[in-house]
Amino acid sequence: MSRFLSARMAALEPYVPGEQPRDRQYVKLNTNESPFPPAPGVIAAVRGAEAERLNLYPDPTCRDLRRALAARFGVGEENVLVSNGSDDILNFAFQAFCGPDKPVAFPAVSYGFYPVLAGLYGLPHTAIPLREDLSIDVTDYIGRGENVVLANPNAPTGLALGVDEIERIAASNPDHLVLVDEAYVDFGAESCVPLTKRYENLLVVQTFSKSRSMAGARLGFAIGSAALIADLEAVKYSTNPYSLDRVALAAGTAALTEESEAYHAANCRTVMENRAYTTEELTKRGFTVVPSLANFVFARLPGTDGAQLYDALRRQGVLVRHFNKPGIRDYLRITIGSKAEMDALLAALDVICNEKGE
Ligand code: PMP
Repeated sequence: MSRFLSARMAALEPYVPGEQPRDRQYVKLNTNESPFPPAPGVIAAVRGAEAERLNLYPDPTCRDLRRALAARFGVGEENVLVSNGSDDILNFAFQAFCGPDKPVAFPAVSYGFYPVLAGLYGLPHTAIPLREDLSIDVTDYIGRGENVVLANPNAPTGLALGVDEIERIAASNPDHLVLVDEAYVDFGAESCVPLTKRYENLLVVQTFSKSRSMAGARLGFAIGSAALIADLEAVKYSTNPYSLDRVALAAGTAALTEESEAYHAANCRTVMENRAYTTEELTKRGFTVVPSLANFVFARLPGTDGAQLYDALRRQGVLVRHFNKPGIRDYLRITIGSKAEMDALLAALDVICNEKGE
């Protein structure tokens, strides 16, 4: 830390992204990326003409991409904001809608970026504990009288609330923002996008990083009332008006053709099949697996220390995610990859358990 850093920033606890290791080849099940390449149309778009136009600034309004998203989700262009990954959009939302007089509540076990943003902006915030079974108790958020941020499905548990439950939360907090982070919604949960037409306080955030195999492109979007989107635009234009580059914009638009979306849907079905297979195989091996609607499972082996199991898997060349946090220390979050990757995980677990038994 330099002596020039402001006191406020010195107190920051930055988000720690999952590793992108370079020391050896791992079976990489730690950052919820897709095991599949981007859609052929996306690859063609990236290799296409935009590269030759990189001397020119991109369209700050991101018109083509917003139009494509609006058509895909049956909303107006004025209901869509795009930016550099959904992390960027979460950042805008915390800046725009939270403040000393506008506290925010989110689950104590959820996406680690929420408390980081609350810390960054010095926001009053409440981290609400989950139930014993790691589910969210909806009644904690009904009539809360403050902003609410929920990942649905939640991360890292994979458990999802129903649209009816989110509706109750939005309806009972009409004067506060209810942000639903749907990063993992395409793997079996139901989206709240249709509700945004009826609840002007409801903002749905999604990403191209997971179901669309485009984590490297950094594309995220929000859908909500025109007023909410205009507020977010104001923050975007006050920080980084060109937050999406030309190549990413072209890739995003190409990802939304009917052909590309059919490819994504097929990949999501495969991930869901592999999730069912992994859940079954882990259960056979004595694991407790939280029923997930996301592209990962959250699991623990009773009687085994989570950090030790994480290390043992790492030594076997399999990278998963471990969170050293109260209540979830013995769990591992395992991304669902290809069938071959899941078999590699299971084989590594068998080696570890055999060694332990010897
Ligand atoms: N929300 C949740 C719940 C996530 O797990 C992630 C992925 N780390 C994100 C948002 C951010 O995704 P991205 O910035 O790649 O769109």
